[in-house]
Amino acid sequence: MIPVPPSAYRGRLAPSPTGLLHIGHAATFWTAYQRAVKSDGTLVFRDEDLDPQRSKLAFAEAMLEDLLWLGIRWEEGRDVGGPFGPYRQSQRRDFYLDAWRKLRDAGAIYPCTCSRKDLVVAAIAPNEGDDEPFYPGRCRSKTDEAVNYREPAGVNWRFRVHEGETVRFDDGRLGPQSYIVGHDFGDFVVWRRDDVPAYQLAVVVDDAAMQITEVVRGADLLKSTARQLLLIRALGLPVPAYYHCELVRDASGTRLAKRHDALSLRALREQGQSPEQVLAPCGL
Ligand SMILES: [Zn+2]
Repeated sequence: MIPVPPSAYRGRLAPSPTGLLHIGHAATFWTAYQRAVKSDGTLVFRDEDLDPQRSKLAFAEAMLEDLLWLGIRWEEGRDVGGPFGPYRQSQRRDFYLDAWRKLRDAGAIYPCTCSRKDLVVAAIAPNEGDDEPFYPGRCRSKTDEAVNYREPAGVNWRFRVHEGETVRFDDGRLGPQSYIVGHDFGDFVVWRRDDVPAYQLAVVVDDAAMQITEVVRGADLLKSTARQLLLIRALGLPVPAYYHCELVRDASGTRLAKRHDALSLRALREQGQSPEQVLAPCGL
């Protein structure tokens, strides 16, 4: 571990190269940049390119270029180097495997052998905007079998939550937040059947390894933060501060998504808009 002064602010930009960045991303990343600048801190650029099916090198190049065009600068990342690399999640598998082993040995996760069809039948419809259907825990009895697995591949690995527990945290923008475990979310996936570490696990491991002190991201990830706090506790990692940005919506009130290609930074730039014009509708 490289020592970082305990008071030093370390933030991160963590885009996924699965599409072109749009105005919504710009608003969040600009906020992250501003918060690092204000604290005279360090900003880390991390490529969240874990999903081999959806991540494309062309998008990875485009997001780097688009953020530089916006005027955002970072001190660490795959293009500028730094002491906490590699800065691409696809090159950090050993870190995630280490965490998976710790969770397995602690009995905190279990192999879930439910088929896709089982899950569709068993799942309670997820709340609007949630990323993962509620899993009712039917494979929990397999926790004892976990130690028999030397590698995670082949089954989904789920983190066992404790029903009824309340997860609380203070958000830097939204104030106190609380989620009821077993009600707001159930046992969640930390390692996928296709041998890809899940977002929740990778983010927690990387934020700790890169000594991130504040996580700035979109408000669509509030519930993920509650899940991640449980993982952080199970792995004995330090807890960062959180700041969840307001989501940018289009004229009809719909959240912007990657399918809004017309609102991609690339398209706006090609139309001749300046970075200031792009950021103006976000109130930045
Ligand atoms: Zn299952």
